Amino acid sequence: EIQTRDEHLQHLALYDELTGIPNRTLFIDHFHRAIAHSKRTKTQLAICFLDIDNFKPINDNFGHDVGDIVLKDVAALLLASVRTMDICCRMGGEEFILLLPDLSKEDSTRQAERLRRQIEMLEIKIDEESIKLTASFGVSSDSGHIDLDSLIKSADKAMYTAKSSGRNCVINA
Ligand code: GH3
Ligand code: MG
Ligand code: MG
Repeated sequence: EIQTRDEHLQHLALYDELTGIPNRTLFIDHFHRAIAHSKRTKTQLAICFLDIDNFKPINDNFGHDVGDIVLKDVAALLLASVRTMDICCRMGGEEFILLLPDLSKEDSTRQAERLRRQIEMLEIKIDEESIKLTASFGVSSDSGHIDLDSLIKSADKAMYTAKSSGRNCVINA
């Protein structure tokens, strides 16, 4: 597909260059729309933060290029595993966020738990080596009076609780 320079620059502003999935800016845009929709239709909305556990040692042991492959593989796994209506973004570094419309607290926690297990089962083959990884999840779900900042803050806080609870787990705010 041939892109004009403007289209190319616009794409860079909204998508993560490494993984090709939406970046933080596009996430916030989708999030505003999803909140408006969920208020209008009185449906629930969940978000899920996930941060790869002990990612720095992967970079240190295998090199930055291998770290990049791990990030791409995790992004591909997330994309393949969420519903078409969900939005999956790279917030930066080894941190991803999912926007899960119309999911209750229980359903969003179950979805996060499914992703946690899939990441745990992932084997990334590099030459003779096979890299294994885990991630920590923070989930926050609400309806009616949803506010973007408080939903993000509570999911982020839950993710840090997951880290301090030993990692490789899902915490619901
Ligand atoms: P924790 O379990 O507490 O999350 O530990 P961690 O090692 O995953 O977290 P930390 O914040 O210490 O390290 C994150 C590392 O991610 C450090 C940084 O160099 C690396 N990183 C950030 N962005 C990229 C990237 O685009 N590519 C690669 N290869 N590494 C990246
Ligand atoms: Mg990490
Ligand atoms: Mg991090």
